[in-house]
Amino acid sequence: MRDNLRRGAIVAGTGPVGLVAALALAREGVPVTLVGERSESSSGRTVALFDDSIRLLAELGVWQEIAKSAAPLRALRIVDDTDNLFRWRPLTFAAAEIGLDAFGCNIELSALNAALRLVAQNVPGIHIIEGLAAAPFFDADRAGCSVAGQRLDAELIVAADGQRSPLREAAGITARLERLPQWAMTGIFRHQLPHENVSTEFHTREGPCTLVPLASLDESRGHQETSSLVWMVRSVKAKALGALDDEAFSLAVERRTHSILGKMQLAGPRGAVPLAIAHLGSIRATRLALVGEAAHAFPPIGAQGLNLGLRDAAMLAALAGEALSEDRDIGAADVLDAYQDARANDIATRSAAVNLMNRSLLSTLLPFDLARGLGMAALDLVGPLRRFVMREGVAPRFGR
Ligand SMILES: Cc1cc2nc3c(=O)[nH]c(=O)nc-3n(C[C@H](O)[C@H](O)[C@H](O)COP(=O)(O)OP(=O)(O)OC[C@H]3O[C@@H](n4cnc5c(N)ncnc54)[C@H](O)[C@@H]3O)c2cc1C
Repeated sequence: MRDNLRRGAIVAGTGPVGLVAALALAREGVPVTLVGERSESSSGRTVALFDDSIRLLAELGVWQEIAKSAAPLRALRIVDDTDNLFRWRPLTFAAAEIGLDAFGCNIELSALNAALRLVAQNVPGIHIIEGLAAAPFFDADRAGCSVAGQRLDAELIVAADGQRSPLREAAGITARLERLPQWAMTGIFRHQLPHENVSTEFHTREGPCTLVPLASLDESRGHQETSSLVWMVRSVKAKALGALDDEAFSLAVERRTHSILGKMQLAGPRGAVPLAIAHLGSIRATRLALVGEAAHAFPPIGAQGLNLGLRDAAMLAALAGEALSEDRDIGAADVLDAYQDARANDIATRSAAVNLMNRSLLSTLLPFDLARGLGMAALDLVGPLRRFVMREGVAPRFGR
C-alpha cells in the first residue's frame, strides 16, 4: 500500500527517451520530477521513427509540432556493396506492400528534443530541474538523489541517462559496454537528385552507409532536396574522414553512395559517434527502472534504438499508471518485475538481430557471407517472409 505522500517518479535524463518517459508518466497521473541538462546542440543526427512511435508522440501531443519537419519513408532499399561471393541484387521494401503509406518518418534529433521539451515544460504534472542527478540512493521504501543543491526523493527513479548510465552503475546493475571497432559519421546534405522518400542502405565491410530522406530545406527559397547520413566506418577511417573539410567530406559521401543522389553538399554540422554494444544483467533494481540507451545499446542499423526506447517508456508508464490507479506503490518490486518481463523479449530480439547483422558485415568468413546472401535472396523471393520482416521492423508483435 502506498503511503499518503504521493511522491511519484524522478526521471533522470533529458534525451528523447527521458522526455517521453516524463510525458507518458505524467499522462498517467504520476507526478514527475525531470532532471537533466539542457542541450540544444545538433550534430547532424536524425532519427527514423516508425508507426508505433509516431502514434505515441501524437498521443502525447508532440507529433503535431514535429510533423512539419518530418519526411515520410515510403521505401527502404538495401544494396550489398561488399565483395561477398554470394552477393544478391539490391532489395527494395515498399511500405505499400504491408498496406502502409510510409514505414515512418525521419526527423532531426535536435528538433525532436526541442519539441518534446517545449511540451514537457507546459505539463503541470512535470517539474523540470536543470542539472545532473548525483548521489542517488535506492532504499526499500524510497529512492532519491541530489540535483542543483536540492535533495529529491520519490517512489521510483527512471534512469534515462544514456549508454554509460551513472544511475545504473550506482544501483549496482551488472553492465558491460563492448566498444565496437566502428564509428558512425553523421550529417545532413543537400543533393541534386530527388530522394523520392526512399532510404538507401549500402552494406559495406565496415557496416552500413545509409542515406535517409529528410523534408526539403527552406521551401520558401525554393525546393532543396535533403537527406541525412549515417555512415558506419572503422575507427581509422573515422579519423581520416573527420580530418576532411566539408567539401572533401561531401565528395567522399557522394562517392561512397555511388552518386545515387547526384552532387552532395553538407548543409549543417556533422558528427562522429563511437559505437558500442551494452550487455546488461537486468533493466531494473530496487526502485530503479532503466529506459532507452541506459537499458540497451547497439549500432545504428535498421533505425531500432530510439523506437525501442520509446516502447520502454510507454510500457513503464502504463504499469506505473496501473499501480497508481489501484493506489499501489509505483516503485514496488512487482511493478518493476512486470516491466522487466514485458520488455525482455523486445530488447533481446532487436539487440540480437542488429548485432548479428553488424558482425556478419564485419566478418569475411564464407559461412557469414553465404548466410547473408541467402537471407537477402529469401527476402527478395519469399513475399510472406518479406512482409513479416517489414511488419516486425516497423511495429513489432513477435518480439514482445
Ligand atoms: C548515428 C545514429 C543514428 C541513429 N538513428 C536512429 C534511428 O534512425 N532510429 C532510431 O530509433 N534510433 C536511432 N539511433 C539511436 C537513438 O539515437 C538512441 O537510441 C537515442 O537517441 C537514445 O536516447 P536516450 O534518451 O536513451 O539517451 P541519450 O540521448 O543519450 O540521453 C541521455 C541523457 O542523459 C543525460 N544524463 C547523463 N547522466 C545524467 C545524470 N546523472 N543526470 C541527469 N541526466 C544525465 C545525458 O546528458 C543525456 O542528455 C541512432 C543512433 C546513432 C548513434
